[in-house]
Amino acid sequence: MKSVFCSLFGHQYQVSKKVTLHVKEYSCKNCSSQLTTDGRGRLTQLTPKYKEINSVLEHIHYKRTIKKQRNLILDR
Ligand SMILES: [Zn+2]
Repeated sequence: MKSVFCSLFGHQYQVSKKVTLHVKEYSCKNCSSQLTTDGRGRLTQLTPKYKEINSVLEHIHYKRTIKKQRNLILDR
């Protein structure tokens, strides 16, 4: 539901989740409107499709981070 504040002043987006270094999810603190960063680095509505993409990205990013940390330990 869009709040009166949002229709007057626009949404007040805050980062709700960091998916990767470049992709984040945002939610408006006054209503339930959500945005995400798309593949081109632009903001777009967080649709169920994008949620799915982001969860895959997050998984890949997480695995890469773990791998990197492991490599760092092995390098020593
Ligand atoms: Zn809003």
